[in-house]
Amino acid sequence: MKTKNRYSCPECKTVVVLSYKPEKNFMGFQKISCPICENLFLYPLTLGYVIFYWMLVSINIISIIYTLFKGRTYDLIKSLANHPLGVVIIIYIVISLYRNQKLKRKIIEDMNINSTHI
Ligand SMILES: [Zn+2]
Repeated sequence: MKTKNRYSCPECKTVVVLSYKPEKNFMGFQKISCPICENLFLYPLTLGYVIFYWMLVSINIISIIYTLFKGRTYDLIKSLANHPLGVVIIIYIVISLYRNQKLKRKIIEDMNINSTHI
């Protein structure tokens, strides 16, 4: 089943078909507005965003590990303190990816519930 550009409203279960790419919120989640109940709901990140987030988180983790071993003090707190932005980015991305997984799981659950009712 082709699910691209098809979004199921979590409120009224209407399937919204978009001919254009939906807007994204600040975290990169797709924002879709239901034409029937006007509920605004979020859809998971696009693959491009997920790849970009994983790359960004990897670069920052590598950079923190590098600092950790370079100084030979193996002081994790100090290494983290040397990368304040990196730490913020990692936390932000972990939260985004966690929310992404939750959204994906919920959509799969909704789809299963819908199919049992048909
Ligand atoms: Zn709706």
